[in-house]
Amino acid sequence: MSKPIWPLLGQTPLFPDAPGQFAALRTHETHTGVDLYCDVAQSVVAMEDGVVANVEPFTGAHVVDAPSPWWNNTWAVLVEGPSGVIAYGEIQPCVAIGQCVVAGERVGTILPVLRTFKGRPMVMLHLELLRSGTLATTTWWNDTTRPDHLLDPTPLLRRASGELFPRTFDLGHYDGRRFRDALAPTNIRYRFGDKLQR
Ligand SMILES: [Zn+2]
Repeated sequence: MSKPIWPLLGQTPLFPDAPGQFAALRTHETHTGVDLYCDVAQSVVAMEDGVVANVEPFTGAHVVDAPSPWWNNTWAVLVEGPSGVIAYGEIQPCVAIGQCVVAGERVGTILPVLRTFKGRPMVMLHLELLRSGTLATTTWWNDTTRPDHLLDPTPLLRRASGELFPRTFDLGHYDGRRFRDALAPTNIRYRFGDKLQR
C-alpha cells in the first residue's frame, strides 16, 4: 500500500490537542474523528485513491436526522479506498457520488463550522475513518460503545504525516490569528497564548 497523503494541501501536518482527538468527550457526544485545524477555504485532498461513496450534509440545520443548527451548514465527502472509507467533514464538496478520485485530488474546500471564536481553533477538517462499505457517518452518543463501523483514523494520519513525532497543536503557543474565521464574533472562553509572552 502506498503512503497516504496529508489531506490538507500544502499544510505541514499538525495534530490536535486533546479536544480535537478521536474519542474526545463532548457535551452530548463522543468525537468520531480527528480535527485538523486549518484555515477557511483551504483545499482538502483525497488521502488515497478511491471512489466517492457519499456526499452528505454533515453539520448544521440541513442534517435531516440529527440537525445541529448551532453550527454552520457543512458537508462530508466519503471516499472508499484501500484503508476503508475516509470521511472528509466540515467542507464544501467539489466531487459527486460515484466519481473516482486519485490520491492528492481535491475533494472540497474548508468551511467554517463554528460560529464564534472562543480562543481555540474554530476552523478545521474533521476526518473520520469508517469500515469498508459504510455509506454514512453517524453520531457516537456519550455512554454508548463505539459504533462498530467507526475506526480511529490517527494511525492513518500518522503514516500520512511521514513524521515519527509530528507537530501537535499547543494552545499555549497559539496567537489566535490562524484557524479562525475572521468574520466570526469573539467570545474568549479559553486561555491561549500563555507561553508566547515569555
Ligand atoms: Zn471533529
